[in-house]
Amino acid sequence: MPISDPEKLRIAVEHRFNYWICRECGARNPPGAEKCRRCKSKNLRPKRFKR
Ligand SMILES: [Zn+2]
Repeated sequence: MPISDPEKLRIAVEHRFNYWICRECGARNPPGAEKCRRCKSKNLRPKRFKR
């Protein structure tokens, strides 16, 4: 389903930019996190991409 509301789209994009994904367990972590809050792994990747 396409997002038609530009305000919602903006919020969704900002959220995408705003967290880290754990490569071990796939948990989302807040920006600034150095390790996964679920499994304590430091194997995080940024959830960032350009539109
Ligand atoms: Zn993890």
